[in-house]
Amino acid sequence: MLTIKLPQIFRVHQVPRIFWEDGIISGYRHPKSSALDCVLSSFQLNNETINIWTHFLPTWYFLWRFLMLSYSLDFWRDTYSWPFLAYMVLVCLYPFTSSCAHTFSTMSTHARHICYFLDYGALSLYSLGCAITYGAYAMPDVWVDGPLHHCFVPLAALNSFICTSLSCYSRFLELECPSLCKILRTTAFAYPFLFDNIPLFYRLLFCFGEDCAWNDSIPGYFYHLIFAALTGFLFASHLPERLAPGRFDYIGHSHQLFHICAVVGTHFQLESVLWDLHSRRAWLSAHAPAATFTQDFYLLCYPFSLTPFKPPTLHQNLGQQIPPINPASYKEGPPFYSSTANPFFLRDFPHASCIQSQILQLWLGHRLDEKIPSDSTIL
Ligand SMILES: [Zn+2]
Repeated sequence: MLTIKLPQIFRVHQVPRIFWEDGIISGYRHPKSSALDCVLSSFQLNNETINIWTHFLPTWYFLWRFLMLSYSLDFWRDTYSWPFLAYMVLVCLYPFTSSCAHTFSTMSTHARHICYFLDYGALSLYSLGCAITYGAYAMPDVWVDGPLHHCFVPLAALNSFICTSLSCYSRFLELECPSLCKILRTTAFAYPFLFDNIPLFYRLLFCFGEDCAWNDSIPGYFYHLIFAALTGFLFASHLPERLAPGRFDYIGHSHQLFHICAVVGTHFQLESVLWDLHSRRAWLSAHAPAATFTQDFYLLCYPFSLTPFKPPTLHQNLGQQIPPINPASYKEGPPFYSSTANPFFLRDFPHASCIQSQILQLWLGHRLDEKIPSDSTIL
């Protein structure tokens, strides 16, 4: 008969110091667990189990919302929805990465660092996704097309880059300077959050009367900010386990509550952004710069793209409707282009914009840019 032996659980002094968590005395997994043991441990009550599930289950909830929304929003052709598309991808990515990080972080000391580097990176990308979606749909009316609106997303991207580096670096200070490590990591998460939410702070605190984007999204943003503040408080305070070490090892410690508050806050944020997206569509389409809905999306795709940045062509293509193309005007491409050599080749997508071709290249894993006819050749 097949029996599955669940991994052994250890107390804090039985594992290396790098694995210790403030106020957690028991429930530690083996510091050199195999990948299978890590997966099995997610079905066994230890001090990471709830951390894993409180982000794994919400990943599926957000994926389900994403799928449902893809029926009502035209993510492929409607450039207005692209910032929201980028945001939704990152909303699904961050809990999934976190759940994986918590699952596999006990494979070794190195694995622990790598897992949490990825976790911090995904959180920073989510923060950038918030800035992209706020820049597109949540800006106060009076700021639209103003200086802050123009530099909001580029600054958020810079913040993401700096704060990811800072939070990753803080891991190396964990043993020698735990206080400095805590300050750096908290700053690395709090600062981008405060920056990204500047448009919401303005709308909630100073935006009344005419020339104001006051609508039914505001209560949702308010709840989002409350839960985000709670998330930050739990992360920094390590309450309640700091008050009663050992009492909350398995259920109820601050990191689990932190995960739950983050997910609930994201849910309110998602619903509010959706409200803004629908209710302000006509006004934003008329007043916001066209590139608001396209260049930010490309900014996010760029680190993953395989081709050099070509801003003029990109902005030309994305800032206006792409005219219909006669497929007959395509000349026969090199052998690489043939559908037999590659069944998913770009010639089948004569209407593909630059972004779409970038994504296709990513999927194909090839550098197709030199094989793609220039705009003038196509038209
Ligand atoms: Zn976590």
